[in-house]
Amino acid sequence: MTDFENVTTHRGVSGSRGWVVAPIHALDDPAPQDRYVLVADDLTPADTAGLDLALVAGFCTAGGGPTSHTVQVAHNLGIPAVVAAGPMVLTVVSGTMCALDGDAGLLHAGLHGGDLRSAKDREGEHAQRDRLRRARALAVGPVAGGVTLSTTFVKPAQVAEFAHSAASGIGLLATELLFLGREGEITDEDAHFRAYTELARAVGEAEITVRTLDIGGDKPVPALKLPQEDNSFLGVRGLRLALGRPQDLLIPQLRALYRAAACGARLRIMFPMVTTVEEFTRAATIAENIRNQLRAPDVPLGVMVEVPACALTVDLFAEHVDFLSIGTNDLTQYLLATSRTNPALAHDIDPLHVSVNRTVAQVTAAAAVAAVPVTACGGLAASPVGAVVLASLGISGLTVTMAAIPAVHEALSRLDDDARRTIRHQALTTGGTDHLTEHVTARLAL
Ligand code: PEP
Ligand code: MG
Repeated sequence: MTDFENVTTHRGVSGSRGWVVAPIHALDDPAPQDRYVLVADDLTPADTAGLDLALVAGFCTAGGGPTSHTVQVAHNLGIPAVVAAGPMVLTVVSGTMCALDGDAGLLHAGLHGGDLRSAKDREGEHAQRDRLRRARALAVGPVAGGVTLSTTFVKPAQVAEFAHSAASGIGLLATELLFLGREGEITDEDAHFRAYTELARAVGEAEITVRTLDIGGDKPVPALKLPQEDNSFLGVRGLRLALGRPQDLLIPQLRALYRAAACGARLRIMFPMVTTVEEFTRAATIAENIRNQLRAPDVPLGVMVEVPACALTVDLFAEHVDFLSIGTNDLTQYLLATSRTNPALAHDIDPLHVSVNRTVAQVTAAAAVAAVPVTACGGLAASPVGAVVLASLGISGLTVTMAAIPAVHEALSRLDDDARRTIRHQALTTGGTDHLTEHVTARLAL
């Protein structure tokens, strides 16, 4: 939106979608009592997970990247976020009225009079459109355009929202986010067990896909005293770390999961950052031993496809796994060699790059041969255009944040076979977020 006259617009990159109007609050100033837009140099995923949603309407950071874990948490919490807005954004004085445009990646600061009124009108229109879409999605149910929608989950407070979200189940329970910041608790089997059984009780019959701890990268856990790594995203992260510290990490978590399954929880277990089939089979063997010890029921085991080596060998994985879920955030980072957290590269991160699209299409084709279901669970699925492209590339299920379900549901419901074919063709030949946004928006009248 560029029609404001006397405001300063800070250009960043779209992190989490949405439009809110509120005064700015700089992180280091004393906290105000009313809703505000938080401005900070950067936020860690743990900081973000701990934000008080009664007060924080959205945030804008000078640094960061659009597919960072911080932004994934913002998606999950349903608050708009703009990242990589540059250091000038830190000079905006607390209390300055602003409009945060999470769709376009802009922060308009210094709204008064007519500008302020039109910004608030726009906020009201967004909310109204969202309510209508939400009601429609709920009436139709979790399948739209042949794709089943599940949701992500980060906070126990989201249980009530889940019941009104039209999601089939929880497609990504990122367990490290349940425990991040609570030093020491991460290795406690009983704390895991309580979290899973309480959540399972709360969501009733819905299936929960639990991702084992994805620690490392930009998600450090101080209590684990992990050595500093030069390049942590290429380091000891996810399943690599869990297999390296089975007694601390993998075994307590798997024991808790099988105990929860034995108590009736409908679970699937998904391993993050898997590179080789051997890593998966090692983890699966540990899981099977625990299951036998506990006389627990079978729980489907799957992997996240987010490392190119895994994507290229999906046919080999397909012989061993029950399901696959593509993590578009990491897959994009590793395919394009663009860090998720480097603000200098924020504009270069393109999850709809033709290379990513071709990889997704290869994964769905290889998995289809072995009849292994493939879902996608990165941030791309939370954008209507991204969801439609992923569906056109053969993804049968999308894990989408609760806040994004209404818009994604509507976009998918406009996808017929003909549109699917042309969008797929565009994705595999030209690709690119800008091009595909233009094409899909026009094709589906979004
Ligand atoms: C992904 O990489 O797309 C994903 C879903 O996992 P995370 O963002 O937590 O790394
Ligand atoms: Mg990932």
